[in-house]
Amino acid sequence: MTRKMLQFIKLNKQLPPKRETIKRKDDFNEIYNEFISEKAREQSSRCSQCGIPFCQIHCPLGNNIPDWLKLTAEGRLKEAYQVSQSTNNMPEVCGRICPQDRLCEGNCVIEQSGHGTVTIGSIEKYITDTAWEKGWVKSIKVENEQDQSVGIIGAGPAGMACAEELRKSGYKVTIYDRYDRPGGLLIYGIPNFKLEKFVVERRTKLLKDSGIKFINNFEVGKNETLFELRKKHDAILISTGVYKAREIDIPGHDLKNIFPAMKFLTASNRKGLGDKVELFDNGTLNTAGKNVVVIGGGDTAMDCVRTSIRQKAKSVKCLYRRDRENMPGSAREVYNAEEEGVEFIWLTSPKSFIGKEKVSGVEVNKIELGDADASGRRKPIVKENSEYQIDADIVIKSLGFDPENLPKLFNAKELAISKWGTIKINLQTMQTNINGVFAAGDIVRGASLVVWAIKDCRDAAVQIEEFLQNKLKKEKNIQAA
Ligand SMILES: Cc1cc2nc3c(=O)[nH]c(=O)nc-3n(C[C@H](O)[C@H](O)[C@H](O)COP(=O)(O)OP(=O)(O)OC[C@H]3O[C@@H](n4cnc5c(N)ncnc54)[C@H](O)[C@@H]3O)c2cc1C
Ligand code: SF4
Repeated sequence: MTRKMLQFIKLNKQLPPKRETIKRKDDFNEIYNEFISEKAREQSSRCSQCGIPFCQIHCPLGNNIPDWLKLTAEGRLKEAYQVSQSTNNMPEVCGRICPQDRLCEGNCVIEQSGHGTVTIGSIEKYITDTAWEKGWVKSIKVENEQDQSVGIIGAGPAGMACAEELRKSGYKVTIYDRYDRPGGLLIYGIPNFKLEKFVVERRTKLLKDSGIKFINNFEVGKNETLFELRKKHDAILISTGVYKAREIDIPGHDLKNIFPAMKFLTASNRKGLGDKVELFDNGTLNTAGKNVVVIGGGDTAMDCVRTSIRQKAKSVKCLYRRDRENMPGSAREVYNAEEEGVEFIWLTSPKSFIGKEKVSGVEVNKIELGDADASGRRKPIVKENSEYQIDADIVIKSLGFDPENLPKLFNAKELAISKWGTIKINLQTMQTNINGVFAAGDIVRGASLVVWAIKDCRDAAVQIEEFLQNKLKKEKNIQAA
């Protein structure tokens, strides 16, 4: 390591990168615009190919970013795609929706030296979209199919990534999902304006063409128990995500027109997919012309406010009990929402919902921040006599998600869970306490990111393969004895 590099690390420890240093407005918007090749070339060539690839270190998948940037800068796009897809099962998805300001781009050396990040996410999207266009993305051709099979519960990014990795090794894979479409939150959670649905659907088709079987409308626990499924396959992966919405238990919580975020977003996504959605069509879940109040400060709340804007709401307000600096959501998303006309009401928490049958307003309290709590974030304290009222025709609650009670749901009391309700696994083998049953993605990590779901499930696939090979060896030894 050179002296210059050591100096840089030392300097950065003293001056941690500020998120706001990403100033270039154009770079934010690039994600949603058509990316022209020259722009990709120009951006890629801004990479300084620094000795320590901070971007790569801060990408959960360890993507070889400097190499594919160099190849793109040289116009060698097919090779860039090959490098990029070798560590990521959905580069075009991550390129669109990773919070790059917290991951690769936020740690780009050029960004930290104040010159604006190399737009890594947009380039990743560009490389892979081009690969799809040019026909470089190919389904898996299995030459020697194995006799062993794996059942995957949950067709979100976690389940899909694991399925792809196992299929590459020749295993038979079936993915069961309780929804009518595969994709998990990529289809029914994340809005179309961030992630176009055709992007997910073409991935699903690729996996089907690769011989992976999808069984939709199949809820484990209802259609079959975990143990029944276990008997059908040589190994099982649980990748069911987290879906129990956190509640606000304040007066008026049972008034009409107060909805959990996923109900609102699913209706909107279904409409985008061309489904008939009665509650949207009759106006209940459509925010057009309404005063919308969204409660929460995470990325899901940002999706709700930005979806409301697109549905032509009269006004959109976001209530958050801490301040901008302490928001859990991506700074980039807040910036986008503000630019689109969302009003953020910081340091405010709901005290009660007002209305007769339907909600007509939210009574709120002002908040001040106290000392940091165990999580390191400053504790919100309600200011006395600070109540006031905000008009609302519809309220969307976005306070985060917890895991459902899987042992109960799966009719598998034995399945060990943590105190947070996530599935407990052996971190080395990724196996649960039930032999041959593995778990990964949000259901293990808690509500997280697509890129982490992919990373965890690539690791799970390696462990499942090792388990299957050992099983086969044992069976052969028994036969030979
Ligand atoms: C609104 C919203 C916006 C988000 N935006 C972003 C973003 O911009 N960037 C980002 O990186 N991350 C984002 N995330 C987080 C990201 O979507 C998740 O981290 C990721 O999808 C987790 O993947 P997963 O496969 O573990 O779970 P999921 O995507 O939740 O998939 C789980 C699947 O399991 C199925 N399932 C559940 N129970 C059963 C059962 N009993 N039987 C059969 N099937 C079952 C479900 O139907 C679902 O299809 C967002 C999340 C939400 C809610
Ligand atoms: S996967 Fe996400 S963090 Fe990694 S390089 Fe792509 S956009 Fe950046």
